[in-house]
Amino acid sequence: MGRVWKALGLHLRTRKLGAQRLGLGADIRGGRMKITANQKKALPYRIMKDGREIVKKTAAGSVEYRRRISQMWHRDHGRCCLCGIWLHPDSATFEHKRSRGMGGGTRDDRIEVNGISHYLGNAAKGSMSYERYMELSPTERLRNCGRLQ
Ligand SMILES: [Zn+2]
Repeated sequence: MGRVWKALGLHLRTRKLGAQRLGLGADIRGGRMKITANQKKALPYRIMKDGREIVKKTAAGSVEYRRRISQMWHRDHGRCCLCGIWLHPDSATFEHKRSRGMGGGTRDDRIEVNGISHYLGNAAKGSMSYERYMELSPTERLRNCGRLQ
């Protein structure tokens, strides 16, 4: 009997760790997953109280940032979220759709709320909000992305 419980406990622990490794935020028992301080430290990004995520400025964070760009590139079929034109995955930049407030207080690196863009378009948009930028004409957005003469 004791061996069965021990095996079950190990199984649950393995599943929980597996879920954490996959980035799933939920405990398999349905409750809220407790993340220890050490586990938080090991993550390449910080999770803010309001749910935002900020990728750390570390080597692991840099890898995580590229990984997120790649994920968004696949999700968006390689299309720039500013001009709509396909771009090579190696030249895709992280487009923060929400404008970063003063001091970066609204920075959010979650892929759910962001996209990929051409470097030039990203620079042209600057800190403007995505909604406001998209009010520019398609021609202007294409030109900003370097897709027009
Ligand atoms: Zn573009």
